[in-house]
Amino acid sequence: MTTLDLILRNAVLPDGRTGLDIGVKDGRIAALERSLPASARREIDVGGCLVSPPFVDAHFHMDSTLSLGQPRLNQSGTLLEGIALWGELKPHLTQAALVERALRYCDWAVGRGLLAIRSHVDICDPRLLAVEALLQVKRTVAPYLDLQLVAFPQDGYLRSPDAVALLDRALEMGVDVVGGIPHFERTMADGADSVRRLCALATERGALVDMHCDESDDPLSRHVETLAAETVRHGLHGRVTGSHLTSMHSMDNYYASKLLDLMAEAQLNVVANPLINITLQGRHDTYPKRRGMTRVKEQMARGLTVAFGQDCVMDPWYPLGSGDMLDVAAMGLHVAQMTGVAEIGACFQAVTANAARILQLERYGLDIGCHADLVVLQASDPAEAIRLRATRLYVLRRGRIVAQAPKAEATLDLPGRATTTVDWRL
Ligand SMILES: [Zn+2]
Repeated sequence: MTTLDLILRNAVLPDGRTGLDIGVKDGRIAALERSLPASARREIDVGGCLVSPPFVDAHFHMDSTLSLGQPRLNQSGTLLEGIALWGELKPHLTQAALVERALRYCDWAVGRGLLAIRSHVDICDPRLLAVEALLQVKRTVAPYLDLQLVAFPQDGYLRSPDAVALLDRALEMGVDVVGGIPHFERTMADGADSVRRLCALATERGALVDMHCDESDDPLSRHVETLAAETVRHGLHGRVTGSHLTSMHSMDNYYASKLLDLMAEAQLNVVANPLINITLQGRHDTYPKRRGMTRVKEQMARGLTVAFGQDCVMDPWYPLGSGDMLDVAAMGLHVAQMTGVAEIGACFQAVTANAARILQLERYGLDIGCHADLVVLQASDPAEAIRLRATRLYVLRRGRIVAQAPKAEATLDLPGRATTTVDWRL
């Protein structure tokens, strides 16, 4: 009989399988079966709770997180005031403050079972202070969190002086992914040119691509078309991600159907950021107000890999958030009207497996041989996890418990009734 390091007994998996025991050895999943006939140094009966691979955030800004109020609050709450505010803060950033805020956020993330994050990092700063800081954070957190960095020209790749050279330098320093922001260039033509140049650069360097793309309500914004076409031209299928794509919400339906075919041909990945899209888009509308989130349901139906990202937590663009990807999934589900049974499951995938595929994480999942990176949730299934923003009872990284929390429950002492406990599960 094998001795394992740890066994989680009586787990429910996100795909609906129940009563499973998960055996962990040397940081990997070594066994997955009912009534596992093995012993372990430690056994935890999870009592029919959901055990999931960790949450993955496919779109975040760790250089700005937790900077809310510095140097002032965003009075209008708009995207453009947010960008202006970030521009005011940038010259005053220090590496120590950046590192401290990022590490604090990583602690929040681990406590929520969020163990992999793709963060864009602004390279439009001649000092590249944020790049240096986040590369340091990436090394520091590596034992417990995968941090993937995107070289992001916030002020425009062609519009911002020196951004072309700075983006090259950021990649040389070790940033993983090529970013972009074509809709923020001076003209539509410049935007398309930036997409072409950045895709060529990624091809040359063998890098993944993830661009902020068409984050506007303009139904005629066409950068996602260029991004998909360049992906096909360079043979970058499956390696390119379009983040936001909010203009697709407003596009003419006939054009959108043609575009979806092209995106499918390119195997373009999509990241929607529901919390941010629902608050920042449609700001010029009176009523009815557009929701501004991209066409998640149709993209999923077309076979594209679609993830939901957090984008911002307590920064110039968004004063809320806590690193809880279940909050993100809940908002995505509502905004996309995905309340069907399979659709709710798909929204859970959008903050776990789909995001992991976009980041190209290795050994992610619940198969034997995968990393024993696991989250035990106080819920019976993914729908309940989303509904309750379920407590993360245990968070495991490489088989080691890195966070745990007591069950969420309340003791009721009601007049005329015996004392009872309520835990909100059905
Ligand atoms: Zn973003």
